[in-house]
Amino acid sequence: MGGRLDHRGEHSIDYHLSFLEDNRYHILHDLRLLNHFGSNYFQLDNVILSSPFITLIDVKNYKGVIQFDNQYHQLIQVTDGKKRSLEDPIPQIRRQKLQLKKWLKAHYFPDVPIEPLIVISNQSTIIETTGNSSHFKYITHSINLPFQIKSFEDKYPIDVITPKDLVRLGNLLKKKDTPLNYNVLEYFGIHPNELIRGVHCPKCFAIPMQRGHGKWLCRVCRFASADAHIYSIQIINYFWAMCLQTKFFANFFSLTMPGQLRPIF
Ligand SMILES: [Zn+2]
Repeated sequence: MGGRLDHRGEHSIDYHLSFLEDNRYHILHDLRLLNHFGSNYFQLDNVILSSPFITLIDVKNYKGVIQFDNQYHQLIQVTDGKKRSLEDPIPQIRRQKLQLKKWLKAHYFPDVPIEPLIVISNQSTIIETTGNSSHFKYITHSINLPFQIKSFEDKYPIDVITPKDLVRLGNLLKKKDTPLNYNVLEYFGIHPNELIRGVHCPKCFAIPMQRGHGKWLCRVCRFASADAHIYSIQIINYFWAMCLQTKFFANFFSLTMPGQLRPIF
């Protein structure tokens, strides 16, 4: 789950991908798919589909100097003269390539070549490699991304998937995507009893307001509001993004009858 929080940075590759011909490529982000055994999920950050090949992209926001030591499978980062060891992303993306390959086979798609890439989003980052330099082909700066993909076009001149099947593949990947339903409370170490539940009064900030006759009523200052929940929604926006579930909402707003949700949304 590390790195999940800086999505905005990850998606800055969209700019570099915008140089690609729209009609040739289908770009998908953040897919979580069940593996071919049906036993585990695997995560693909960025998938670029085209008829002759597929590119998997993992964006890394490393700073300073990064050294890929392919002999010992270490990734050393040097920032401000300090060295630290990071997880080498190459074995991970190679594993994702194998998982996608098996997934495609299990869903009766042809054996499309898959090219995994680690994209370094920070232009000032210096990339060094030691050991087996053939692993260098997996790493590129984001500015080189369109050229890297052009080189794959030269490497794979023949279409493996028909345009129709490519659309079907894109749709199936989206359909099979199973976003991880984060247990937000567990993640932040909050006990459910610690939550202050309910809609707060926009006037005196008392919690909770009571729901009745299509309005929220403050028990403290008697302020009535039709849209007080909007302010509370803004506060829990972060939770909302991750827990879009009626049950969670009904519980959070202290609503007991499912029908009570309908007049609000
Ligand atoms: Zn009030």
